[in-house]
Amino acid sequence: MKIHEYQARELFASFGVPVPPAMVVEDADAAADAFRAMKKDHKAKLAVVKAQVHAGGRGKGGGVKLVKTPAEAKSAAKQILSKPLVTPQTGPEGVPVNKLLVAAGVDIEKEYYIGMAIDRANHCPVLIASSEGGVEIEEVAKKNPDAIVRIPIDPSAGLQGYQARKVAFKLGFKGTQIRAVGKILASLAKLFISKDASLAEINPLVVTKATKDHPDGQVLAIDAKISFDDNAIMRHKDLQALHDPTEEDPAELRAKKFGLSYINLDGNIGCLVNGAGLAMATMDLIKLHGGEPANFLDVGGSASEEAVTEAFRIILEDSNVKGVLVNIFGGIAKCDTIANAILAAAKEVGFDVPLVVRLEGTNVEPARKILKAAAKDLPTMEVGADLTDAAKKITAAVGIKPKKRRRSA
Ligand code: GDP
Ligand code: MG
Repeated sequence: MKIHEYQARELFASFGVPVPPAMVVEDADAAADAFRAMKKDHKAKLAVVKAQVHAGGRGKGGGVKLVKTPAEAKSAAKQILSKPLVTPQTGPEGVPVNKLLVAAGVDIEKEYYIGMAIDRANHCPVLIASSEGGVEIEEVAKKNPDAIVRIPIDPSAGLQGYQARKVAFKLGFKGTQIRAVGKILASLAKLFISKDASLAEINPLVVTKATKDHPDGQVLAIDAKISFDDNAIMRHKDLQALHDPTEEDPAELRAKKFGLSYINLDGNIGCLVNGAGLAMATMDLIKLHGGEPANFLDVGGSASEEAVTEAFRIILEDSNVKGVLVNIFGGIAKCDTIANAILAAAKEVGFDVPLVVRLEGTNVEPARKILKAAAKDLPTMEVGADLTDAAKKITAAVGIKPKKRRRSA
């Protein structure tokens, strides 16, 4: 589960990470008022107006604007709210912006990256840090991997003081900064482990320009990003309240309600499958025969009529879908029961695109008879003898010519 930057900032702050003061607003006038309030309460000379969406790279897409006056804050807010925000992480259609964060702006001396993630290879959380902040860490990893420090963390012991100091030294912090960074790293690790996060990033962590009061500058988090492990969310009532359904694909949200695992993809062949492994294999076979899956959809083990009906509805709502492949293995749920469920669901939803059904498993013979008998009522339906036959039939039905296979010598 992802949360917004403003929520992540509050969470970081509650764990002791210093973040500049900020306010959430929903319109341009409120953005100007927020800057005025921060001028008064915090003597802010600058402000930054930031789109609150569940996607990174906002700066590059024009979703982060530095402003010097409340009037500038108003026009920046107007501009950001006026159209979907397109960033390197959103796709070309972008995402709508409903909320803005107006934060007190800071004078930056240098930007750093600190973050934590799960290191799957080593089965533990890992602290990642770099003196090249403000840019995507993936880019740094490609171009300058030596600039990244990685420290595996024992989840029961947490981040140790010596590990934090090692990171602070390696990144080149000095003077009073070292203690400040050590505290921030400790807070980051504590938050990550105690809240079952899957990713927590401060990018950038900044050192501000030196002033009389702060000759070494201040170390502040000016961006915050956290995602949580969905499988652990039930342990955190406070985090559940941070979920923003408007940021999710509406079809994926509906699927979740019916116990379906659905992910929208770019192709035109809708897939309805039971079991995640079978769903992956089905998508592979569609691609092998020149097609592109329109979705990943696992209806779960029971493949009940209710679940299949909703699955058909969700698949057919995608206007790219030109054909549907149903591939179900009848294990505990018998094939004849599933065949009846498919027919009832198809009747209920109404089909005007080709449908290919492949069933295998318990009671497959009576199931095939049921499908055959129903063929006259459902003229767009074909039965696949096996998975390859089904993939060939559905790709042909959406107009893909069979690939010529080169024989190997
Ligand atoms: P992201 O692009 O979605 O990661 O959004 P960020 O919050 O990281 O902002 C992008 C960039 O804007 C940062 O890397 C900074 O260079 C700049 N920025 C953000 N806040 C401030 C600020 O208060 N002062 C200054 N000078 N720059 C800022
Ligand atoms: Mg950032």
